Amino acid sequence: MSNIDVTTAHCVSSAPSVCFVTLGCAKNEVDTAEMTKRVTAAGFSVVDDPGAADAVVVNTCSFIQAATEESIECIFDICGLENFESGRAKLVVAGCMPARYGTDLEGELAEASAFVPCSKEDDIADVLRELLGFKGASSATRAVSPYAASPASYVKISDGCDRFCSFCAIPYIRGAYHSFPYEDVRAAVAERVAAGVREITLIAQDTGRWGEDFDDADTTAHLLDRLADEFSDTWFRLMYIEPQGVTDELLDVIAARPNICSYLDVPLQHASKKILRSMNRRGDAQKHLDLVARMRERVPGITLRTTLIAGFPGETDEDFEELISFLEEAEFDYAGVFPYSAEEGTRAATLPDQVDEDVKIARAQEVRDLADSIGEAHVSQRIGQEMDVLVLGREEDGQLYGRAMCQAPEVDGVVYLEEGEPGDIVRVKITDTLVYEMEGDIIYD
Ligand code: SF4
Repeated sequence: MSNIDVTTAHCVSSAPSVCFVTLGCAKNEVDTAEMTKRVTAAGFSVVDDPGAADAVVVNTCSFIQAATEESIECIFDICGLENFESGRAKLVVAGCMPARYGTDLEGELAEASAFVPCSKEDDIADVLRELLGFKGASSATRAVSPYAASPASYVKISDGCDRFCSFCAIPYIRGAYHSFPYEDVRAAVAERVAAGVREITLIAQDTGRWGEDFDDADTTAHLLDRLADEFSDTWFRLMYIEPQGVTDELLDVIAARPNICSYLDVPLQHASKKILRSMNRRGDAQKHLDLVARMRERVPGITLRTTLIAGFPGETDEDFEELISFLEEAEFDYAGVFPYSAEEGTRAATLPDQVDEDVKIARAQEVRDLADSIGEAHVSQRIGQEMDVLVLGREEDGQLYGRAMCQAPEVDGVVYLEEGEPGDIVRVKITDTLVYEMEGDIIYD
């Protein structure tokens, strides 16, 4: 099976075994870690081999059609395993796919014994107890933190989104925006820090709105400031912040706190005003450029990532040229570029002037090539620079690697090292780069 991430195993003999398979984004990884804690606390053992499990929970991704297809492919791969073909194991489909398609899935995926949408994931232990006829044996549970396996982890600070960008299915999958209380976010951070985590990446569908829905409104800047102050040996990083959330207050907190990564991921999606309005988004090329300039001015040396969509319905050659010109001028360090994907149930899927598939793909490739040439040039300029690197572990071939503050998890490359222990933060001089990857030597005082 390909592209399958599996949680760490914590074996407890005699209890039924459960394997979690996680697809999609970091938000799903957080949800899987929470479900793992719940089933471990309920007395199940958690294993990393779906072929050896009494039940497999597939935490699916479904935010675009390609992700749904990958989830279905993964489910069918699992159903082909001997323990499923012989009828010994049960399949639970969790996460975004049941949230998006609801009861329609039950007719389509008869192989599944249960469906657990995002909003019901807290009930995962009860679902498994019923499926496996297990009463629970919490005394047999070993208190192994799912966060002990890596020096880096994610914490979700809110869920849902009600901005309703016309291309996006997430508001229909994840529901209305709601911030998690400060005490819960702090407790999630404290749990990870106690398990040895050194870098916490705060995530949500839109991290910049945290606290605005509380009776006593609060801000993401204040959240980040409090966490960075209390956990001063831990790196904090903020991902997925919509432009409206990039306040001066937030930028000043990032600039002032050395343990907050000078890094922001601000999805802009397009630069043409006409296309942005059709996406139900604000701004235009000039406003985007002003935002980029403000971020660079208030946080000198900040690393910037964005997400862009090419081939949105109605995108003309002129609109596309505007996107290209904007990218040339904005010079992001990293960009995720996607051809527009018409998602069932979204308003954009019904818009006229859908762009031909081959044009969408060609335009996305052109934007990607430009973004890569800018990004690679930025990375190569880091040769000779000194920076802190969090040592993360070894790749399959034994190569040691870590991450600098200018690199977000999973998307921006890593720093290869010759020495260091996972969990250490070491001072490194960058000696070489290759595309987005860097190599460095540890500097000893
Ligand atoms: S802000 Fe993000 S999650 Fe919300 S609708 Fe727009 S693209 Fe989707």
